[in-house]
Amino acid sequence: MKNLARGKFQHLRIAFLFSFSSLIFSAYGDTGADLKACLQNSNNTGVSVGSGLPGDPAIPEKSSGYKLGNKVVTSATYMAVTANPHATQAGCEVLSAGGTAADAAVAIQTVLGLVEPQSSGLGGGAFTLYYKASTKQVLSYDGRETAPAAATENYLRHISDTNQTNPLPTLSSSFSSTKASGRSIGTPGVVKMLELIHQDHGQKPWDMLFEPAIQLATNGFGISGRMADAIAGAKNDLLRDPDATAYFLNADSSPKALGTLIKNPDYAQTLSSIAKGGANAFYTGPIAQSIVNKIKVTSSGGANPVAITPGLTELSDLANYKAIKREPVCTTYRNYWVCGMGPPSSGGIAVAQSLGILENFDLSASQYLPTVVNSEGGKPSVAAVHLISESQRLAYADRNKYVADTDFVPLPGNGVSSMVAKDYLKTRAALISKTKSMGTAQAGVFSTATALGSSAAEGNGTTHMSIVDKHGNALVMTTTIESGMGSYHFTRGFLLNNQLTDFSFEPSDASGLIANRIGPLKRPRSSMAPTLVLTKATDGSRGDFVMATGSPGGASIIQFVVKTVVSALDWKLDAQQATSMVNFGAANSSTTGVGGEHPSIDLTNSGLNDPLLVGLRSLGHTVSYSAQSSGVSTIIRAPASWNAGLPTLWGGADPRREGIALGDSPF
Ligand code: GLU
Repeated sequence: MKNLARGKFQHLRIAFLFSFSSLIFSAYGDTGADLKACLQNSNNTGVSVGSGLPGDPAIPEKSSGYKLGNKVVTSATYMAVTANPHATQAGCEVLSAGGTAADAAVAIQTVLGLVEPQSSGLGGGAFTLYYKASTKQVLSYDGRETAPAAATENYLRHISDTNQTNPLPTLSSSFSSTKASGRSIGTPGVVKMLELIHQDHGQKPWDMLFEPAIQLATNGFGISGRMADAIAGAKNDLLRDPDATAYFLNADSSPKALGTLIKNPDYAQTLSSIAKGGANAFYTGPIAQSIVNKIKVTSSGGANPVAITPGLTELSDLANYKAIKREPVCTTYRNYWVCGMGPPSSGGIAVAQSLGILENFDLSASQYLPTVVNSEGGKPSVAAVHLISESQRLAYADRNKYVADTDFVPLPGNGVSSMVAKDYLKTRAALISKTKSMGTAQAGVFSTATALGSSAAEGNGTTHMSIVDKHGNALVMTTTIESGMGSYHFTRGFLLNNQLTDFSFEPSDASGLIANRIGPLKRPRSSMAPTLVLTKATDGSRGDFVMATGSPGGASIIQFVVKTVVSALDWKLDAQQATSMVNFGAANSSTTGVGGEHPSIDLTNSGLNDPLLVGLRSLGHTVSYSAQSSGVSTIIRAPASWNAGLPTLWGGADPRREGIALGDSPF
């Protein structure tokens, strides 16, 4: 634990606190002061987040489906991009003080759990990739939730073997009922994962990194548009939990509104305990006991009590939880290496497969280039959306059938290497017709012994951060409580996840056992795809950092990430353009999604006036133009070949969320 070195770092700690509260940036930089660090660009005047001055991105605004006018942020040496201005600010200040990307991630996650509680927090899980500049290594960390040791194969769908009805409360679907019950709650992983990353890569004292969130929780912050919407949307569900009711709702049970100053002393207390005692203070002792008690709740209480099916999590589940360092999934894509998260996430394999299929086509040829390229990204061509969504159909078919927690169910063939092999993906690419959509793809055939059924479902309630530090290290972390407001179970200032609903509720289908069925201590399959791109050195080895990206969005994460990577690597868009670019893609069905929230999509006349939508229909795609809620955070250090003399780092925050990018030289 680095906090044992507290005395030694006391001067840094004081400098850090001083800087965070007073925003005097020169006070604590250890590699020279930068007076423009972490300031928001607004009419060429620096505005700091939280200052309350005009242009302050932390002033709560109504959330919008798409906020026009995000501009690429440029920076010389370091940068943080997250889905919330307070969180970006906290991370940027750690970087400004010479902290590593790992240090910044701790500050960012703890702030996000406060200001964006609907999307991630201490009660959830996460996956992280880390690029270590000194060795050019990419490491990956699994902080995914686990099913309790007592979980049986019917845990998510039946109250018990003798009462084979859905867990309670009874809501509109078996998914929502299970989500709101104790059965959906996996043992949280994010705190252990942060500790492991910090032990491996941190340079600042652990306890210092909790200060921004502790201060904000103690002094309060204005509820943002997305948080206000999330509270209002979940009001009836939050009302079943007295602790959630007390925090998120007013005394008359109305939802706390946009701009309301909200304080979370319980969260500050929880963070102080972890700051002092390390992750053990969360996984054992009074906090662990509160988590277990909350999971075991059987009734909402109150005047009209509603029954809630408890989960079977015990203190031993928490005490035994381990974050795991795993092999990342790294493949070459044209002149680059692309690295992603392996199982239990399907994200890395699916992105690698989709790109590996696309490598068989020249996406930089004129018919594939986007039009209307401006700071809102661009409008993709019919040919590009067709090809890319077909590649995704093929990738999702394999994902749905084969990918789950490989500690329980092996991948087919020789594992990841077979699934991303160039010759295999070439045979998959050959299945694509340029003139007609394949509709639904079949999974590839491997030398696998077991016949497997498929599962596809996932929810919504996640966030992504991308970070590059002064030392050249990069970190991408996608972090989640699964769907908005998780399981609605709230204790000690944070929400508990509903991540177990990412398992298949059914253990088998007509084709056999489902790889992603629930089992004791198993981790549910994810789609999260934190992604790092590196150059390919002349000898073919992994080279320098090029790009960090990722997104929330359930199973659509894979599509958001492929879109962003192709926009950057094939179409040479900058980090904001690639992030803002129209969302598009397909899971494995005949429906192809084109994000109707984007300003360049013409929704009039049921889309019949938009050549992209019309063109896709003529190729046999069933087109959906529903709004798509991505939350891409991207940093690019463009290689000299496409940098055109611009500053070193580009940052882009998704205009569909509330985030910003900040670095050392914003102007
Ligand atoms: N629980 C999902 C996963 O792990 C993520 C949900 C979301 O992105 O909103 O893939």
